[in-house]
Amino acid sequence: MAGAGGENEAIIIHQARWLVPITGPVLAGGAVATRAGRILAVGPAAAVRAQVQAAPAPVRCFDHGDGVILPGLVNTHTHLEFTALAGAIPPQDSLPSWLAAAMAGYGSLAPAALDQGIRQGIRALRRFGTALVAEVSNTGRSLPWLEAGGLAFHYFYECLGFDLLHDGPLATDFPFLADPRLAGLPVSAAAHAPYSVSGPLLRRLAAWNRTRQRPGSVHLAEAPEELRFLRHGDGPLRDLLVQRGRWYEGYTPPGCSPAVFLERLGFWQGPCLAVHGVCLTGEDRQVLARRGVFLALCPRSNQHTGVGWPQVAALYRAGVPLTLGTDSLASTPDFNLFQEIKLLSEICPDLPPAAFLAMATWNGAVALGRQQDFGSISPGRQAALLFLPLPEGAELWSGLLAAGVQGQIYWLTPAGKEMVDGT
Ligand SMILES: [Zn+2]
Repeated sequence: MAGAGGENEAIIIHQARWLVPITGPVLAGGAVATRAGRILAVGPAAAVRAQVQAAPAPVRCFDHGDGVILPGLVNTHTHLEFTALAGAIPPQDSLPSWLAAAMAGYGSLAPAALDQGIRQGIRALRRFGTALVAEVSNTGRSLPWLEAGGLAFHYFYECLGFDLLHDGPLATDFPFLADPRLAGLPVSAAAHAPYSVSGPLLRRLAAWNRTRQRPGSVHLAEAPEELRFLRHGDGPLRDLLVQRGRWYEGYTPPGCSPAVFLERLGFWQGPCLAVHGVCLTGEDRQVLARRGVFLALCPRSNQHTGVGWPQVAALYRAGVPLTLGTDSLASTPDFNLFQEIKLLSEICPDLPPAAFLAMATWNGAVALGRQQDFGSISPGRQAALLFLPLPEGAELWSGLLAAGVQGQIYWLTPAGKEMVDGT
């Protein structure tokens, strides 16, 4: 229906026992009216009906009963090209081990398998209620599939180059970024990590994004080996750089923690999304909070790569804006963000469920600069709406989490509701 747009296009009202707008109070017996793919009104069901009554258009109502209406989710970190590695990389005891296993696995995949994985991944993201995804790729392979896939996205074209020390134009090293088509697409230049990207290259990436007013991204403080490397310039990550032929003699480690290092380089001066943040120091948390850097938490991936847990309560208290991501299927079993919420609630029982849900919706939309369209049930935004039926007798938050974890996730449509195929 989106974009059909005529004055007489039908108004669709969806109501349920609960409606969670995210940016407003939870509504018991709430309803949302949509038209031509956009949200017209939200509020108590009777008020929404009264509001649209005068419109010269047919009105269709669906009462979905005992369940919860939510905005579509925002998954702020994945790598769709790794979908074909689903289940292939066993849990590891350190990030360097996981990186070695994942790179070997990726190198063994045929192009057709990569493409099939990307397509399956896009379907599975929809299946689990994703309205907007942040995809990270250092090949650009997943971009055409996302453009054709019916899922809103932000594309982080990821650059690596520990030994790229010059200050020339970014496109000389990364010709993908010179494609004129990118001007009309939500594409940023992303840094892989502080241990795989040189200081000059980190500055060039930040400048490219700032000029275009696009968010940057970087894997940050994912593992203790990263802190060791930045402080002393040695350890398993140095070994990995040597093995891959990217190490150079004369490297001087910055001698500080990851977020402080990027602060010194001016990397945080535009909007930015850091990812993981498992090993951030107290000073790092202060830097991220002061700069308004969003941090994407991917706790199931952290579990799989053996790096430990992010300090969620300390991050929250410090005022670091948090979002959620699943990471790729090379380090997590599926794209279900409710599973990430469940794990975070166990790691950090002090935070209310509504805080985790905000991370999976509104915060993610703001981090990607897409809050005009996503992350909240409020007028003007896209009608990307979910319905989750509550188990019998369940209260709102525990029932919502139970339904989400079980994959009881429906999209609301002009014809009612539907579950999308995908695994
Ligand atoms: Zn990642």
